[in-house]
Amino acid sequence: MGRRWALWGLIFALLVALLAVMVFLVREYEESQLLVQLERNAASMGSDVRTGLNRSIQNLQALHGLAPTPELWPIQAAEFLSTHREMVHIEWRDADLRPMAARTTPYMPRLYTYRARRDSQVDVAQACSNATRLSGPAFSPSYFWPLSPGQGIELMEMCLPLMRDGQSDGYLIATYSLAAILTEMIPSSALRGQRVAWTEADGTRLTIVGNLPSGSPVVHANHLVDLQGATYLLRLEQPKAPGGWLPPVLTVIVGTLSLSLLGAVGLLVRDLRRRLLAEQRLAEALAFRKAMEDSLVTGLRARDMEGRITYVNPAFCQMVGLTAEQLLGTSIPAPYWPPEQIDEYRQRLAVRLAGKVLPREGFESEFVRADGTRFPVLIIEAPLINAQGVQTGWMSAILDLSEQRRIEEQSRASQERLQATARLAMAGEMASLISHELNQPLAAISSYATGSLNLMEQAPQRAADDGAIQTALQRIQEQAERAGRVIRSVADLVRRRERERESVTAQALFAAIQPLLMLQARKLGITLETQVATDCPPVFCDRTMIEQVLLNIGRNGMQAMPPGQPPMGSGLRRLRLRAEPVAPSTWQKTPEWVRFVITDHGIGISQEDTERLFTPFFTTKPEGMGLGLNLCRTVVEQHGGMLAFEPHQPQGTVFQFTLPVAKAL
Ligand code: ADP
Repeated sequence: MGRRWALWGLIFALLVALLAVMVFLVREYEESQLLVQLERNAASMGSDVRTGLNRSIQNLQALHGLAPTPELWPIQAAEFLSTHREMVHIEWRDADLRPMAARTTPYMPRLYTYRARRDSQVDVAQACSNATRLSGPAFSPSYFWPLSPGQGIELMEMCLPLMRDGQSDGYLIATYSLAAILTEMIPSSALRGQRVAWTEADGTRLTIVGNLPSGSPVVHANHLVDLQGATYLLRLEQPKAPGGWLPPVLTVIVGTLSLSLLGAVGLLVRDLRRRLLAEQRLAEALAFRKAMEDSLVTGLRARDMEGRITYVNPAFCQMVGLTAEQLLGTSIPAPYWPPEQIDEYRQRLAVRLAGKVLPREGFESEFVRADGTRFPVLIIEAPLINAQGVQTGWMSAILDLSEQRRIEEQSRASQERLQATARLAMAGEMASLISHELNQPLAAISSYATGSLNLMEQAPQRAADDGAIQTALQRIQEQAERAGRVIRSVADLVRRRERERESVTAQALFAAIQPLLMLQARKLGITLETQVATDCPPVFCDRTMIEQVLLNIGRNGMQAMPPGQPPMGSGLRRLRLRAEPVAPSTWQKTPEWVRFVITDHGIGISQEDTERLFTPFFTTKPEGMGLGLNLCRTVVEQHGGMLAFEPHQPQGTVFQFTLPVAKAL
């Protein structure tokens, strides 16, 4: 988790860096573009200045042609200066540079009041020496000319040698204002938003024209203006962001694109997070489903339309004793079909798959485990429909019925045991009756025989004659005693069962029969309720026999409630088994008896049946023996208790019997 976040952070940081670099490069590019533009502008300005100066020199030459005499010259010069603002002063000097005529611009009449014109003699001389050397117009380097203390302008001299008829006719000296050159010779539209300056080689500004917002960063371009005799540096300056607050278009586009990219990455991250969350939920749901399938005791099996197994759960694998790998992909005949029944199963499957409706309650079948043992199963099938609504196969739930069969078998066996026990009990009952009936006559036989023998002993003469009688009497005695012994041994047999009695709680009795009753109850949709009063003491009984009594009465109760009678949902499809102590009487502090009450809500018992209920072989059921209730009563009475029944309101019957409380030893 942490690593993933770190990775995301890294990607994000890289992206931001990339965008920053891009924006920076774009800005750089725009700036370089700006610089190129600026340099181009500076060059064009330089050439403007040069052309302007050339033109003004030509005009000067023309002026001299018009006014060749020192008298006329100043008038023409005054007019000339009023139209040539870049010049502040013109002079005509002779070949030795002595002034012949001069005129100062009307725009700056006080040019030579603070300092005299002759102070600029050095610059004039330099310009003219250049002019002579070049034999054409030449310029001097610029110089500062103070107008008042602390104020002044930057000027330069131009010397134009004059020729007349192949002879030197002196010089025309024009003094230019550097500032005026810029304002006059560069179109004002080109100066908008820019600043132009003449600078020295070291960058010191001599003259500046134009204004820029102070404090804003500027870009500049230099252009060398080469004049005859002197070289000047023109510097053009422009603010870095020429549009003021409006950033350059390219930067805006790249910036917007970068922001959109960042936004898209953000959205992607969000989408990814959602996807991860969904994946996690899906994994959880899958894990939950898997846990559920693995914990099922019901076997699950899916088949495709050709009958191939596509899925089995662990319960199914365990049932048939094969692994999922062995089962998946196997087709018909399935590996767990009994070999001799393959044909029959195949037909059955074909019929079932052809038929559109499947029995909801399923069908029973028999499977073979890997070790060869057979076991009964209940199969419930349903069509497997995919997300597009198309049937892709069949899903089956398989229940192993072995355990159920075992309980049913147990129940049948215990029923048989009951009947055997009951027969034994009946024999015992008869035997005790016989013993009771025979004991007295036998005792009489014995005593008569003894008396006879005594009499014979008292009259020995006669006794000798009657030897044979004596022998016979002795035999009588012997036989009688033997009969007595036989009877006693029968009585012992009955008593032996009595010895098997033990102390049992009502809970234990109910717990033993409950699974057996449940089998029938589930089939009939009956709810079973067992209830033992909290103060109910254990009873003293033959556990097996009492269990059979409870089973028999319970079963009768359920058989009296056939399906639909009473109807489902009426709350009456209930069989209640209850045990409670019989309230002790005033002179008996502890209870002597426990009462077992079995209540059903069945069809009840008619008046005429009531009388015959305990008659052996009375039954109203086609498969009934009619022995159950009779035996139950015998068993209960053998324990000293009583069995009775009465109708229950609003419908049904209540059977109840008592058993003695087990006394503490
Ligand atoms: P069997 O159950 O084999 O028929 P029983 O002696 O147990 O023999 O029962 C005899 C008859 O008594 C039954 O056939 C039935 O008609 C009737 N009977 C027993 N218990 C009930 C009951 N709870 N409700 C209605 N009839 C009953």
